[in-house]
Amino acid sequence: MKWWGWGHEGVAFTHEDKPALRAFIQRVLALDVARPGSPTLSFDALTVPEPVLGDALRGALEDAVGAEHVSTDALDRVVHARGKSLRDLVRHRSGDIGRVPDVVVRPGDEPAVEGVLRAVLAADAVVIPFGGGTNISGSLEAPSAETRTVVSVDMSRLDRVLDVDEGSRLARVQAGVFGPDLERQLNARGWTMGHFPDSFTHSTLGGWIATRSSGMQSDKYGDIADLTRAVRVVTPAGTLVTRPVPHTSTGPSVREMVLGSEGRLGIVTEATVHVHRLPEQRTILGYLFPDWERALAAMQAIAESEASPSVTRVSDSYETAFSFSTRKDPTPLDRVKSKALTTFLERRKGYDLEAMCLAFIGYEGTKAHVARQRKLAGKVVSRFGGLCIGSSPGELYDQKKFDTPYIRDFLLDRGAPADVSETSAPWSRLKPLYDNVMAAARGAFGELGVTGYIMCHLSHSYHAGACLYFTFAFNPSGRRPAIEEYDVVKTAIQQTFVDSEATLSHHHAVGTEHAQWLEDDISPVGVAMVRALLHGVDPGSNLNPGKIV
Ligand SMILES: Cc1cc2nc3c(=O)[nH]c(=O)nc-3n(C[C@H](O)[C@H](O)[C@H](O)COP(=O)(O)OP(=O)(O)OC[C@H]3O[C@@H](n4cnc5c(N)ncnc54)[C@H](O)[C@@H]3O)c2cc1C
Repeated sequence: MKWWGWGHEGVAFTHEDKPALRAFIQRVLALDVARPGSPTLSFDALTVPEPVLGDALRGALEDAVGAEHVSTDALDRVVHARGKSLRDLVRHRSGDIGRVPDVVVRPGDEPAVEGVLRAVLAADAVVIPFGGGTNISGSLEAPSAETRTVVSVDMSRLDRVLDVDEGSRLARVQAGVFGPDLERQLNARGWTMGHFPDSFTHSTLGGWIATRSSGMQSDKYGDIADLTRAVRVVTPAGTLVTRPVPHTSTGPSVREMVLGSEGRLGIVTEATVHVHRLPEQRTILGYLFPDWERALAAMQAIAESEASPSVTRVSDSYETAFSFSTRKDPTPLDRVKSKALTTFLERRKGYDLEAMCLAFIGYEGTKAHVARQRKLAGKVVSRFGGLCIGSSPGELYDQKKFDTPYIRDFLLDRGAPADVSETSAPWSRLKPLYDNVMAAARGAFGELGVTGYIMCHLSHSYHAGACLYFTFAFNPSGRRPAIEEYDVVKTAIQQTFVDSEATLSHHHAVGTEHAQWLEDDISPVGVAMVRALLHGVDPGSNLNPGKIV
């Protein structure tokens, strides 16, 4: 992983193969992306402080994991210092690397994790579990004033599917496994977990659990909270083991306490998760709707209907316009088809192309199941004036979805901050919530005197409501640091979430980024309960201090 951005060195987003994108960004952000971006700071230009690591602690860590898995290498420590929030990237890129961990350890099994935690507690040091380092809520960074030794526990060696209980459709999996490796191991036995966050390639099972992650197909498979049946967690009091039972009434759920705990209760070493047989057929179809109101109403009607798609995703007109601007060079045949479609939409269907919304609906299962689901969802789509545009847009989206994260670095290279904020609310509140957030973000752009853009999609549907996922970017004024202007916009959006009775985050956790709104979300008593739990388990505040509350 790059220390300053997303993904692997040498892989980057470009506008050059997308003929409409430059003009689109020029129009909405007043930014010419053809101008070369600023070069990345060289790693050698950073001042990485010497690690604070006493001989006794070093020796105990080496005993626990083996000397070759204890690293004080400067690059290793910087990569483990933060996640991938916009604030993380902006600060790293400017050479402000924060309180980097003093040492990175890589345990290979649960006893090694227990040894690390024992050593850390004995030395009154700090331990921060590290999965893939992709969180965007400030869930990994040690507090700037932390004087104790900070030990980052990289879980990547715990990467195996240990067992599949085929009859119960449960798999025991080590927590450090990355998404692609997990699916490769399961697929080889004919199974899938069905958890595909956009960060899939670089994030881990333990990180998903510790942040309550959601994936693209969570409509069918459930969010990570639904998929996780049991956990093993190394805590200061010993190893917590919960049972992989389908349901239990044994008091408040300890499993639920671990979900979203961001390393503050212990280190998750293993989880038992739901797995499903690989579907015979999987397809994602593209649909168009005349406007956002009808698109939202259609998603609600699908959730109420007998249809059970694996993906329901619909973009507002602003995100639709952005998506169309990222299309690659069309072939002459594409051009003819596109012209015919536009004419049909305007003349026959009465669409206003500026208001049109693009949706993807996915179906999985046996061929017969997929055919029936398509029919059921298709009927609802037609009722709301929508129409199916076939499988090519969906296939393209499916192939490219893990590449889109690179676009944030592309814009940052050119000085423009871009970020996301996501929330969920009951169906009855979604439209006012959307209107409030759009108004708040645009108000913030106006107050700052900057050219900005905000767009949204509904990313997950539930029985009672849905997740709205906002993406925003702006061209900073240059009058003050861009990160301060970013804070004005981000704060306006987050505040609007809680003021509109939505949640402060649907799947990006709390960390430090969202902690100031937690009381609004779960009430002061709720925060006091969380605080008491964390303090009770970790009285010395040795486990990832400062996160959540
Ligand atoms: C471009 C991009 C796209 C994203 N898309 C999505 C998305 O679609 N859905 C989604 O849910 N999220 C998404 N995220 C956010 C992020 O990927 C998730 O929060 C993810 O779950 C973090 O996993 P990780 O392995 O990278 O954890 P890390 O970032 O390494 O850690 C996150 C937190 O979990 C703790 N932790 C990690 N492993 C363990 C463990 N074994 N035991 C205890 N605590 C642990 C850490 O201490 C930290 O507090 C995205 C992020 C980016 C940058």
